[in-house]
Amino acid sequence: MRPETLAVHAGAEPDAATGAVAPPIHLSTTFAHGPAAERIAGYEYQREGSPTQDRFEAALAVLEGGAAALAFSSGMAAITAMLETLPNDSRILIPDDCYTGLRMLAQDFLARRGITTAAVDMSDLAAVRAASATGIALIWIETPSNPRLKVADIAALAQIAHAHGALLVCDNTFATPVLQLPLSLGADVVMHSTTKYFGGHSDVLGGALIFARRDEPLDRTSHFRYITGAILSPFSAWLLLRGCRSLPARMAWHCRNARAVAQFLATHPRVERVNWPGLPAHANHAVAAKQMRDFGGMLSIEIRGGREAALGVASKVKLFTNATSLGGCESLLEHRASVEGEHPTSPQNLLRISVGLEHPDDLVADLAQALA
Ligand code: PLP
Repeated sequence: MRPETLAVHAGAEPDAATGAVAPPIHLSTTFAHGPAAERIAGYEYQREGSPTQDRFEAALAVLEGGAAALAFSSGMAAITAMLETLPNDSRILIPDDCYTGLRMLAQDFLARRGITTAAVDMSDLAAVRAASATGIALIWIETPSNPRLKVADIAALAQIAHAHGALLVCDNTFATPVLQLPLSLGADVVMHSTTKYFGGHSDVLGGALIFARRDEPLDRTSHFRYITGAILSPFSAWLLLRGCRSLPARMAWHCRNARAVAQFLATHPRVERVNWPGLPAHANHAVAAKQMRDFGGMLSIEIRGGREAALGVASKVKLFTNATSLGGCESLLEHRASVEGEHPTSPQNLLRISVGLEHPDDLVADLAQALA
């Protein structure tokens, strides 16, 4: 079945007890069991698992083509659980361009366990091969990456990782399973900040891991989540499940709008560079065209004139809201260096744009007046 159909029907069986077509939200934290803790309906305590979350996880596994999925309270909780599976003193590769939280987790927490992290340009396979030569336990990729929209060749990187006995984990937040299926290209685990496109309305925080196989990484992350408690609330699971139903339809609109915005910006004299993988001039356009169904709703631009010029544009937009996060109905714009903490890695003239679901002409008109 195609993604549009899967998204509507995955985890959507009518409620067995009532026939309700919309799924019930089970808020109960505890479930009746027998005198010696015999389970009656498979559940015991909400921190371990609950029916609404199970439905969302079933949908995630189907959409990503995985063997199993785990939902978390945030994307960072999912990343933390995955990296917790690493042995002490191991070595991993992360992208030189990635969500700041991953970099901070590596520096501030993984380093305490002796885990060393090398930041590599994942779109440069020779650089990844060279960085892997001394041995690696895991390669983490984000494709397209946040915020420069670099694209990594998932199939080629899976080969490199597996040649070293390492796992390839792919943050698929920007693309979603509608546009890209990393497990089918050889990745071992897919990660999502479901806060973004899965939620789709900027009103629910969540994260997920989807596994190619039911083996040790699944067992360890599942146990870690149960013991440390970074579970999704039933209401969040319900909202995210609802988000799945319209995900393919929203992604088509996001992609269409992003194309119009990117094409307009690419011709604007005040814009030095447009980072959107759908543009033929993008350095990784060919890889993106090979592994993605469409190019997504995220882009970033670099403004001529540096930080002050970029902040000037950010202060003039009217329809776009200056805000962090992405993947909602409303278009957002953000000067990334200003939110990346003490040591930002984004260029000072870069503005990240989450293209929403408004009419593309209105979005282009707003950017045109802000750049005028
Ligand atoms: N991965 C990417 C690509 C992100 O953009 C984000 C958040 O912006 C995260 C992971 C972290 O997710 P969360 O904010 O849900 O913890």
